[in-house]
Amino acid sequence: MADPKKPALGDVIEVRCRFCRLNLDANVSALGPDGAIVKVQCRTCRHFQDFKAPKPVEDQRAALIKKVMKIAERHTQGTSDRKTPSSTTASLTPEAVAKALWDEATKDANPLKSKIYDKHRSFGVDDLIHHKGMGLGVVREADDVSVLVLFREGFVRLPHDQPREDE
Ligand SMILES: [Zn+2]
Repeated sequence: MADPKKPALGDVIEVRCRFCRLNLDANVSALGPDGAIVKVQCRTCRHFQDFKAPKPVEDQRAALIKKVMKIAERHTQGTSDRKTPSSTTASLTPEAVAKALWDEATKDANPLKSKIYDKHRSFGVDDLIHHKGMGLGVVREADDVSVLVLFREGFVRLPHDQPREDE
């Protein structure tokens, strides 16, 4: 009898898709001799790939902060007269980090192309959102029921694609 805890071919599991660069559902497509998952197929982009465990959200945030540091450094180098690179990185509060990320994410964005946020609408990664209270935001992650949106004030998880019960 098969062990219910052991993965089987075709099982749906959460993986880190290296093509979508997101944690997504995938089908188990190859198992090793020891029963470990070897290959998976991303259900979003349909790419077959080596199995990689989903990335913890904290890691993703750490990676984002690293990116912000680089952006901040670049800006510091741009303003060549001021020689205070250390104080720049030291002053990176979470708010400053979010602001820098938001600046970077929205610098080429056309606000006219933003979608008005509505929990019944469905949004995808990189969608530009206009939220009544929080203003312009960029979708950074999306799953079946929620999206992680980068607003000027920081990251906010919002529901989306909700069924309209009262209709
Ligand atoms: Zn994928």
